[in-house]
Amino acid sequence: MVTPALAASLLSPAPATAPSATPPVGRIHLSKAEVTEVEEAYVLDALRSGWIAPLGPHVDAFEAEVAELVGVAGALALSSGTAALHLALLDAGVGPGDVVPLSSLTFAATVNAVVYTGARPVFVDSRASDGNVDVDLLVDAVDTLRSEGHRVPAVLPVDLLGRCVDYTRLLPAMDRRGVVVVEDAAEALGARHAGGGAGSFGRSAAISFNGNKIMTTSGGGMLLSDDLELLARARYLSTQARHPVPWYEHTEVGYNYRLSNLLAALGRGQLERLPSMIDRRRAIRARYAEALAPFDDVRLLGRSDGDTDADDNCWLTTVVLDRPGATVADDLVTALTAADIEARHVWKPMHRQPVFACDRAFVTGGSDELFRTGVTLPSGASLRDDEVERVVDELVGYLGR
Ligand SMILES: *Cc1c(COP(=O)(O)O)cnc(C)c1O
Repeated sequence: MVTPALAASLLSPAPATAPSATPPVGRIHLSKAEVTEVEEAYVLDALRSGWIAPLGPHVDAFEAEVAELVGVAGALALSSGTAALHLALLDAGVGPGDVVPLSSLTFAATVNAVVYTGARPVFVDSRASDGNVDVDLLVDAVDTLRSEGHRVPAVLPVDLLGRCVDYTRLLPAMDRRGVVVVEDAAEALGARHAGGGAGSFGRSAAISFNGNKIMTTSGGGMLLSDDLELLARARYLSTQARHPVPWYEHTEVGYNYRLSNLLAALGRGQLERLPSMIDRRRAIRARYAEALAPFDDVRLLGRSDGDTDADDNCWLTTVVLDRPGATVADDLVTALTAADIEARHVWKPMHRQPVFACDRAFVTGGSDELFRTGVTLPSGASLRDDEVERVVDELVGYLGR
């Protein structure tokens, strides 16, 4: 039972930890969510308003605010980024017998969404500079597959680690071929390319609010598009394909994919603070860049490319060690883990995953090379300066050995 005393203690601000001369030593996380009184106020409002049921005013406002930020006509709040990808692919007419070329260097969710439709993925390799899909190779894959008689209704480029694909070249090429572009912008909210926001480039796009992303609803996602009819149809499919009549009437199989009002409230708090959270991640990246500058064979992923750093949302800063050996990334991850610092390999390419071993791939070796040499570093907005310095010390010490 919640007694009045317990309720009061829950509502009072969290006790401030006393500043100490020697910072506490503890595990440093890769991308821990940061929540403040801003989020508390939004969630409390949702609770007190009585809108506990799914849907409600925070959902509507959250959709409008994200659509405005990205620069699209509308948005549909969903239970995950994967759900958004699934609905986007269904809209593109993807189904059994089709193939969908996509980035091999990605999280499994991108591929899983293709498989949910009954289609099969075809993996396309990445550029070594930023890890994003090689656009020429993607175009080549579409043409080759079509010349062999495959149906290719859509492609699924991924804005890797918060940096947009080269849509300036990709969109006209797919337009000419009549191929729908679905943008997986799950990691890229707040990033930009050629003046447009990540999530505004395909016919539709998915973003994710999973716990470790640039902002979170503790779990959730959104489908974005300029096509309001597309969004209306996705909205209908995401609520069990219920027809708007007084009884339950169904002519199609639907999904239970909507985001709740409570989680949308949390998202609105996070969205309000998104610019400052991105600024913090950018400052952390700048510190890593400065510390790594003396090492000729070490670079940060994305920096050797033409896009400006301001276009990047700096979600996860990734260090690439251009050094020989099969276990370059492995050894660094092991060393940082031993110092209680969470660091991870970049995504293991999907064409290397046992579950997709029998699927087709167009490879040049770019993603394999990044998997061998790339490590994502702690990048969360809640990292303190002394924690960043601890990572820098371990990293520089390791590299100089
Ligand atoms: C996180 C992620 C997804 C899936 O988003 P969820 O909200 O976890 O379902 C899809 N694609 C990429 C590239 C991701 O990083």
